[in-house]
Amino acid sequence: MSNSPVTDYDVVIVGGGIAGLFSAWRLRDRKILILEADERVGGRIKSVRRGDYWVNVGAHVFPHTDTHMGQLAIELGLDVRQVKGSVTGMGLGARIVDPARVEMLPFVLPLTLRERASMIKAGLKLALGVRQVNRIEDHQPQTPADEVKQRHRLVEFRNDQTFEEYLGPLRGRVESIFDCIARRAAADSYEVSSGTALLCCAHVMGPKDAPGATARVVIGGTEEVVHALHARLGDHIRVGAPVERVTDQGDHVEVRFLDETVTAQSVIVATPAHIARDIIDDVPPPLDEALRHVTHGAFLSMAIFTSESGPLPIDDVYAVTTPGHEIDFLFNHAQVTREGERKSGGSLMCYRGGPRAAELMAESDEVIERTFLRSVLELVPQLRGKITETVVQRWPLGTIYAAPGRAAFQPALERGFDHGRIALAGDYFDPLSGMEQAARSSLRAVLRVSENLRSAEVASGRGGQ
Ligand SMILES: Cc1cc2nc3c(=O)[nH]c(=O)nc-3n(C[C@H](O)[C@H](O)[C@H](O)COP(=O)(O)OP(=O)(O)OC[C@H]3O[C@@H](n4cnc5c(N)ncnc54)[C@H](O)[C@@H]3O)c2cc1C
Repeated sequence: MSNSPVTDYDVVIVGGGIAGLFSAWRLRDRKILILEADERVGGRIKSVRRGDYWVNVGAHVFPHTDTHMGQLAIELGLDVRQVKGSVTGMGLGARIVDPARVEMLPFVLPLTLRERASMIKAGLKLALGVRQVNRIEDHQPQTPADEVKQRHRLVEFRNDQTFEEYLGPLRGRVESIFDCIARRAAADSYEVSSGTALLCCAHVMGPKDAPGATARVVIGGTEEVVHALHARLGDHIRVGAPVERVTDQGDHVEVRFLDETVTAQSVIVATPAHIARDIIDDVPPPLDEALRHVTHGAFLSMAIFTSESGPLPIDDVYAVTTPGHEIDFLFNHAQVTREGERKSGGSLMCYRGGPRAAELMAESDEVIERTFLRSVLELVPQLRGKITETVVQRWPLGTIYAAPGRAAFQPALERGFDHGRIALAGDYFDPLSGMEQAARSSLRAVLRVSENLRSAEVASGRGGQ
């Protein structure tokens, strides 16, 4: 190999979501630059804070201690706590039920006999599928190779049919219950693969020690993670810098943004998949095809701050699934603060996912607020006259879900580029996305570019010390 040219940076990271920031944190001893298109970093991690309360309008349930994100939170000295409130509440009509065990739902929901029979039948199928997912996710992968193996198994798991096909015909309101459950993956049940929907359910219904089965949250809001990383990496970050082109020049990479071009030994592209595909020159056809087949579903979320002076019926509940409502889920973000004396006021987050969310997103904030509050006030009428503020957040690219057939593209996605000059990071390598999935992909990208940096240093006589 000929001498590597001197470049402006060792690594340029495109995208300042958690995938980009996590990569930067691991590469902080290198000469790095993070380019973020938006005026803020954090991407789909965003929180709104008002006094003692906060609402996460993006990612909220935080991974376990024994994960890359869990370890990051410890390194950054963040306060992450287990939510004591239930995550399996269900609000059908005006009633919220919250049985101790999720298996009891068919018996406590106000259903007709036929609906109850239909729910038991579908529930048994769901429980069987969840057990199968639990067997795949029976451990936290400890090596990158183990991670890839587990991810392949998850992507391939029941990737041949939709959730709707898996469940079969459902009666009456039971259909809306399972549709709502599917929308936790930001997709309707006729879109999402049954494997992905079951994975999503496993994270809520699985054994309490399964990864993600219990809710943990960052005190102050998930965006505290972003603030902590920003405080440490701020000198390396440029916001308002949308990257237009990433070009591999053989022995270095050029990155064009605004009116500037910078050079680097390696580039980590940590944008959503379709943007990576658009901005990188000469993506190999199989990888291009794989990136094209990554499916995103929309989320429309809303923060709600309240001023009640006494307890609410949902004080002990963190998550409520709300079939048949204008919203799909209601999250009681103040729940984690409810230990000891109950303070007045509170904070809730609600969202709807999938095509319904994409449709309503086009309306004004006022229309969205009115629509969502109709359901919130039907479910928690005690909040009438107690809503002090709402904040609407649109996520056209909410989260990733695998559609049937996605598994065929996984090998090309995993392979990425054949060299370490350009590496991809983001939450889209898994059938269902989240912060931990983004962090895992970042570590893999960091490994790849680090190998490239070492080879370049050896070639130019700078390495080996
Ligand atoms: C409502 C909602 C709820 C969620 N709940 C959870 C949850 O409870 N738990 C969980 O783990 N996950 C959750 N997620 C998912 C989680 O937020 C994402 O998986 C994760 O944050 C994705 O991180 P990322 O860095 O891969 O992508 P992003 O956060 O999308 O970051 C990509 C970044 O790239 C930037 N960018 C794009 N184009 C360019 C360009 N040309 N040049 C430079 N920069 C560019 C974008 O502006 C963005 O900042 C939720 C998401 C939403 C929307």
